Amino acid sequence: MSTLATVAVLVQKYLDDILAEHADITDGAVADYIPELASVDPSSFGLSLELSDGYVYESGDSATEFTIQSISKPFTYALAIDQVGTDAVDAKIGVEPSGEPFNEISVDDQTKTPKNAMINAGAIAAVSLIPGADAQQRFERLLDFYSACAGRRLDVDEDVYNSEKATGSRNRAIAYMLQSFGVLDGDPDEVLDVYFRQCAIKVTSSDLACMASTLARGGVNPGSGIRITSDAVVQRTLSVMMTCGMYDATGMWATTVGMPAKSGVGGGIIAVLPSQLGIGVYAPPLDKNGNSVRGLRACQSLSAQLGLHVMSVTRESRSTIRATHDIAAGVRVYELHGDLLFAGAERALRIVEHDSDEVDVAILELSRVDDINDVARRMLAGMRQSLNRRGKEGYLVDPDRRVMPAGSATASAVIFPTVAQALDAAGAR
Ligand code: GLN
Repeated sequence: MSTLATVAVLVQKYLDDILAEHADITDGAVADYIPELASVDPSSFGLSLELSDGYVYESGDSATEFTIQSISKPFTYALAIDQVGTDAVDAKIGVEPSGEPFNEISVDDQTKTPKNAMINAGAIAAVSLIPGADAQQRFERLLDFYSACAGRRLDVDEDVYNSEKATGSRNRAIAYMLQSFGVLDGDPDEVLDVYFRQCAIKVTSSDLACMASTLARGGVNPGSGIRITSDAVVQRTLSVMMTCGMYDATGMWATTVGMPAKSGVGGGIIAVLPSQLGIGVYAPPLDKNGNSVRGLRACQSLSAQLGLHVMSVTRESRSTIRATHDIAAGVRVYELHGDLLFAGAERALRIVEHDSDEVDVAILELSRVDDINDVARRMLAGMRQSLNRRGKEGYLVDPDRRVMPAGSATASAVIFPTVAQALDAAGAR
């Protein structure tokens, strides 16, 4: 058996076991305040996990379609930020947990805007921010966005849509209240129509896993490789999911599962482990907060067994400095590797500066660095100046300027294609 097959079998077994472990739980009740939702099979149970490279694991009823309901909220929020910018969205929707049920008819006391975009009031306000000449255009834009995240064309469950439209007085009350506070521009009924449609979009747990892993990848759909929105939009969206995504159970979720997430009254949940994976679960019966009972338990098990908690404190998987060699008197080469972010760059440069008592020329070899962010790049570029102040010298070796591309951020660095050339410069100094 190939290694991949072995890994796949192992992970598949984790998923199947978690499903089996929780399949008999019958606690909770299927949502029926939208009459059509009451007709689903309460025993359905699907679990899907998509890795950040697009590899998918599925277990149980992972091909069963259900309505996305409130899991739509983070995606509409993301699209609103993407389309009109953070400031325009912040002017209408807050980012604080509400401490109230998802369908509360309320706004923040001070700002008179919805507390956050994960409750109905904020979600309806987010819909009103999506550009479009009419309801149809707005909805098409939303559907395109959701579909791009899911990697397939999604559509609406007309029965659930009509059912909610016929009975959604609470949401009507919310929309009209928002209009009276100046949060909603335009016709509240038109905005509501888009909101009811977005809630009735049909997905499977595997669609949700793909949508979640698109967030995990900072806005790139791992299957298609297409960038759908920016890192910044996703960072904001995940932050609000982390603090508000599971309604009044968000604190319990954050401690026991530890991933930004969102639930819907259709019985779905998504959870996102940034840069690593996305999870989609489906199990219709809900607890009193409106979260899927088995979905919550399955995510707790998955997080514990696979170690997915975002706050888990791990040892750095590899230290930044892979090796050091003294290649001539007073000349030391530092081989850096892995992903270079703030903490790694800070540590590496602290070691280089500490060594500068005995080393005259430090050469940082970067060809094994996988990824680097802007702050680490600026810090590496600044190394030379700080060594120069001590009468010492610092060079970088970056063969094809992959890590330190030419530009203003790297202008103060002296960069060579090979260690030998850096050594020549050290000798000529
Ligand atoms: N369409 C539902 C509503 O507005 C969505 C609520 C939810 O999933 N929590 O009531």
